[in-house]
Amino acid sequence: MTRDDALALDAADPLARFRGTFDVREGLAYLDGNSLGPPPRTALAALDRAARQEWGHGLIRSWNDAHWIEAPLRVGDKIGRLIGAQPGEVAVADSTTVNLFKLAAGAMSLRPGRRTILTENGNFPTDGYAVQGLAAMLDGRARVRSVPAHALTGAIDDDTAVVVLTHVHYKSSIRWDLPAVTAAAHAKGALTLWDLSHTAGALSCDLTAAEADLAAGCGYKYLNGGPGAPAWLYVARRHQDAIASPLTGWMGHAEPFAFEPGYRPSRDIRGLITGTPPVLGLAALEASVDLQLKADPVLVEAKGLALSQMFIDALEARGADPALRLASPREPSRRGLHVAFAHPAGYAVIQALAARGVIGDFRAPDIARFGFSPLYQSYAGVWDAAQAMGDVLADRAWDLPEFHERAAVT
Ligand SMILES: *Cc1c(COP(=O)(O)O)cnc(C)c1O
Repeated sequence: MTRDDALALDAADPLARFRGTFDVREGLAYLDGNSLGPPPRTALAALDRAARQEWGHGLIRSWNDAHWIEAPLRVGDKIGRLIGAQPGEVAVADSTTVNLFKLAAGAMSLRPGRRTILTENGNFPTDGYAVQGLAAMLDGRARVRSVPAHALTGAIDDDTAVVVLTHVHYKSSIRWDLPAVTAAAHAKGALTLWDLSHTAGALSCDLTAAEADLAAGCGYKYLNGGPGAPAWLYVARRHQDAIASPLTGWMGHAEPFAFEPGYRPSRDIRGLITGTPPVLGLAALEASVDLQLKADPVLVEAKGLALSQMFIDALEARGADPALRLASPREPSRRGLHVAFAHPAGYAVIQALAARGVIGDFRAPDIARFGFSPLYQSYAGVWDAAQAMGDVLADRAWDLPEFHERAAVT
């Protein structure tokens, strides 16, 4: 594989037309869209319109006139199309963490008498924290059981209320077989709660075909909704009548503007919403999701895997540093769209790369992580980034004091 091969792939790339639609500085190799996606130009315009016209001029009238009040379900339905959900099964609300908490509690309400929330060791910490807090609140009526990934399906039993997993692991990028784990849970009468933070906008996914129960994910990674973008949640239609949210707020009420003193849940996806939607965040997210919907998810996944494989192959071909180890599956179909490498100086390597215009990120203790977002990355850009990494390792360019100083956010 040469740089010319990469250029040829770019020339034949059906997704190449999306590159100019993002406001990313020319020459920057942004390999961190798995942490914070860059802004589509249409999202910046939507933010400006929502702020100046709808907020500034429309003021309170915009709840109706600019359809703010419908945005959580309208944008939810659009995200639903990216993950194979049906209309009315997805809402935008809160953060991923809050949604995981609400849905895990909801799962307990759907499986009374079962006590176990089952997850894997090493799941994204916030997912674990959310269910630990829930178990503490339920005081003996729930317990969190965390097992190694290889033991997970075997650990599902008659006491399991819900299996809580991240479809694509945030560090290793290992991808669970979502339909198979869902079926294994159902065979034992348990539910599944999938964290799709690294899936929506990255992988083709069909929650309907998998008969998935519950899911949540964030809006600021591959969905490019902007920093702190609102998150989303999915509840399969068949559970919406019975699921109970632990955070009962007025926007989840059957009639929010009746101002009744007692809570009466909305018996649809609305029942999982709590308070007033974050309108400005929704405006940016909606524009970004509209752009994403123009790309075929099968092509998006295929290009993301091809880019990541090219990065691995090009870097390993350099043989620049024996201390570098691939920490993701070698087989592309077992990965999401990011790749992890372990290196003892992982943090400094990421800093040295950033100084050369290649942005990845670091996850403790030793993981250098690179995300491959198919809408704005080119094959040649990724090939160049792999060479830059090869140079940094071969020259030990990371071994300068300034590259070892830890910032607050890694
Ligand atoms: C990014 C991420 C989150 C983020 O949760 P927030 O509540 O948005 O901070 C949760 N879970 C996983 C697996 C993630 O990758």
